Amino acid sequence: MEQLQSLTIIGSENCQDVVGAASWPLSKSHSSRAISDHMFMRISRRTFLAGAAASNLLRAAEPVIDIHQHTNYAGRTDEELIAHQRTMGITRTVLLPAGSKYGLAVGAGGNDSCRALAQEVPEQFVFFTNELPDLPEARQALEKYLNAGAIGIGEQKFNVQCDSPFIHLVADVAQEFGVPVLMHFQHDVYNMGIERFHTVLEKHPKASIIGHAQTWWGNIDRNHDQTVLYPKTKVTPGGITDRLLSDYPNMFGDLSAGSGLNALRRDEDHAREFLVRHQDKLMYGSDCDDRVGQGPACSGAQCLETLRRLAPAKEILNKILFRNASRVLKIVV
Ligand SMILES: [Zn+2]
Ligand SMILES: [Zn+2]
Repeated sequence: MEQLQSLTIIGSENCQDVVGAASWPLSKSHSSRAISDHMFMRISRRTFLAGAAASNLLRAAEPVIDIHQHTNYAGRTDEELIAHQRTMGITRTVLLPAGSKYGLAVGAGGNDSCRALAQEVPEQFVFFTNELPDLPEARQALEKYLNAGAIGIGEQKFNVQCDSPFIHLVADVAQEFGVPVLMHFQHDVYNMGIERFHTVLEKHPKASIIGHAQTWWGNIDRNHDQTVLYPKTKVTPGGITDRLLSDYPNMFGDLSAGSGLNALRRDEDHAREFLVRHQDKLMYGSDCDDRVGQGPACSGAQCLETLRRLAPAKEILNKILFRNASRVLKIVV
């Protein structure tokens, strides 16, 4: 609430702050034109959002790409999402829509919601597209938004086998458009059968697949019990996830949510080695639905803090915070 209030002040009452922030990347002539525009225009929602995004850029100590957020997440408004990302220090955020049904089981906004915010505040947001892969119109829906500027597909979080014809279709589309797919693996619920996922990677070597969620992260451990979603035991390297990341150039990992954070914290000695081993494959994401953006209530902030603490070198940290995402998602920061 404090964040929202301070944003409201910037947007609605302190025009100079908005102009100062928004003009930062622009030339002097742009900035004086911006000032005269602001003098005579009512401050629009677009101006408010852009101001918030630009002041975020001013503050950022180093670029951070967050590859995993949602609109309307647990009822959070766009303004609250922008404030949350600003507090975390995010440079650019990837919005992952739901498909035409289910809201990813958390009420998340769909394709139009993510596209609208990304078009409104392109300095801060880019968007993926998504659809239930087992609908007859899945391909058409994905292609429509990929042609409209979506830079990836996901998050795929639907009740199908991970090597089903439906996921092969999604990987086909991804390969045709040269975009990644982000997949939520959850035992017995979403993208089941992770032990067979290598067949999808082999069949679509040019499609980059980004793994996420409980079953993805639990399987860093060779001794993983598939029924345990947040294991706390020490990790024995060589689990399914560890091997997919090592063996397939097109497999990547999304460190977001409680599952990614747990994978780092359950065994920090292992995590340090894992970050080195897969330094070219791991990407930071938040996927938290809080409105705070810092402290223990925000898993995204906790993950940033943990990565900064555990990454053995600045260059490795930078790869995980933005370089890998910049390369794989083709985002310029
Ligand atoms: Zn997920
Ligand atoms: Zn958060």
